[in-house]
Amino acid sequence: MTLIIDNLKDIQLNINAACEKVGRDPKEVQIIAVTKQVPTERAEEALAAGLIHLGENRPEPLLEKQQHITNGAVWHYIGTLQTRKVRKVIDHVDYIHSLDRLSLAEELDKRATKKIQCFVQVNVSEEDSKHGLKVEEVLPFIKSLTPYSNLSVIGLMTMAPNTEDESIIRQTFKGLKQLQQQIINQQYEHAPCTELSMGMSHDYAIAVEEGATFVRIGTALVGLD
Ligand SMILES: *Cc1c(COP(=O)(O)O)cnc(C)c1O
Repeated sequence: MTLIIDNLKDIQLNINAACEKVGRDPKEVQIIAVTKQVPTERAEEALAAGLIHLGENRPEPLLEKQQHITNGAVWHYIGTLQTRKVRKVIDHVDYIHSLDRLSLAEELDKRATKKIQCFVQVNVSEEDSKHGLKVEEVLPFIKSLTPYSNLSVIGLMTMAPNTEDESIIRQTFKGLKQLQQQIINQQYEHAPCTELSMGMSHDYAIAVEEGATFVRIGTALVGLD
């Protein structure tokens, strides 16, 4: 099992190189350590290595880890969120990456005790297996969120297809970036949409080249083998 601090060094070098290639400042890119498949101790190791953003995709493991990790972490909910689980997690997360339907928005708005920072999840590649809105649904969806004053759409999130074909991956990320610009052009007060959550263990370098501001990395960073 490799140390997180060593994995992080490699990943940070790759992010720096990707930024250099396209003239970005590496400080614009936040790394989320996706700890969904590892125990609390490994999440604690991530924090000790200097990471602050942690990502979980189910309510129970999130709450379990938070019993032990009581400060210093920023929590990202990156999985599908069932409406009935909103109550359970809403006061335990700083960002939600999976806003994909109005019923969820309504429940989040209703249960919120502070502004909820949301990413709208987009299925850019339109794979059946993936959650998220189709590209053409996103603008009308974001417009329809106007009445929910407790929600702020700070960005968009997507997952690229699991493929070796780099051009398909790149197209997916480019598609999300283009969509982001369309939303920014609307100048919605409730949807500044400055952030892009994209890139995982196998494709984060491409995502950074294409404008990611949050990369969600599990296996390559905190993986146990
Ligand atoms: C699991 C997961 C990740 C991390 O995946 P790795 O390939 O292990 O880096 C990122 N985003 C989401 C939404 C996930 O569910």
